[in-house]
Amino acid sequence: MDKDTEKILLTGGAGFIGSHLLDRLRDKGYEVTVFDNLSSGKLEFLEPSLKNPGFKLIEGDLLDTKAINKACKGVDFVFHVAANPDVKLGASDTSVHFEQNILATYNLLEALRLNGIKKLAFTSTSTVYGDAKVIPTPESYGPLIPISLYGASKLACEALITSYSHTFDLQAWIFRFANIVGARSTHGIIFDFIQKLRKNPKKLEILGDGKQEKSYLHVSECVASILFAIEKSNGAVNIFNIGSEDTISASEIGKIVVEEMGLSDVKFTYTGGSRGWKGDVPKMRLGLEKLKQIGWKPEYTSERSIRETVNSLLKNN
Ligand code: NAD
Repeated sequence: MDKDTEKILLTGGAGFIGSHLLDRLRDKGYEVTVFDNLSSGKLEFLEPSLKNPGFKLIEGDLLDTKAINKACKGVDFVFHVAANPDVKLGASDTSVHFEQNILATYNLLEALRLNGIKKLAFTSTSTVYGDAKVIPTPESYGPLIPISLYGASKLACEALITSYSHTFDLQAWIFRFANIVGARSTHGIIFDFIQKLRKNPKKLEILGDGKQEKSYLHVSECVASILFAIEKSNGAVNIFNIGSEDTISASEIGKIVVEEMGLSDVKFTYTGGSRGWKGDVPKMRLGLEKLKQIGWKPEYTSERSIRETVNSLLKNN
């Protein structure tokens, strides 16, 4: 990416990860236009960029093909971060991930094709691996058998992107994230635990048996590694796992949240079963060899990422 010549469009830039990516791009001097329908994104997350002359917000929906085609005019590089990231939702609403992830990504790819845009970075997920038999799971793992509608939708997006890459000479970066945590997160386990403990500081209900072991990475490291990988890789399709090098259990996260909130005598209850919900992958840790080969290594452990997130969420109410 060349900040003097390339114009960037960032879908989902008002959301949790998108707004941190926006901050980082702005600090590096890039001109960025955010395209977001503000469904879960928040205007306040854009505040640090509002006075920046290179910044623009287009309040638009990826399901509106005219709006996204227009937004892509004159753009050189697209970060596609917008999605519905709620994994649990697929069990009760079967259309949301199809529309917000697959159809939205198809509309965007068409806008790229029609506007001659040749570079795209996409935020995918560890859930494309399903219940992986190899842990840590490398990017080359297969067959990919997602067990959630969310994972399936992201894998479909990846397939669309790689096929557009081959057919229309699009250069693509696909990032498969572990759980990303940090300030401004509006969903996920830490957010849920804080909400539950604010309602009832004596009891914490944990979905599943609490033994789910997953990798968590702080959003600051996530966005830094994305930009690092784009700078250091130049294939037609570049796929990278992004996560921490260890895991932490749901119960341990519960203990950290209780500690950081200064609570005591909290009774943990469990809904039972090894999965928190239908489609939950109970053991997840991603292989980071590809990132390491290009010179990147995460500094944060899962615990440090969790602790910093709890503190920043508590501070910002
Ligand atoms: P988020 O909900 O905070 O951000 C999504 C953003 O996209 C929001 O600003 C929302 O308003 C916008 N958006 C949604 N649908 C849109 C549409 N149709 N048109 C325009 N804008 C739309 O979620 P997040 O946690 O920041 O996730 C960002 C990306 O990272 C997503 O693609 C998600 O699937 C992926 N991801 C997140 C995690 C995680 O742990 N947070 C893990 C793996 C992958």
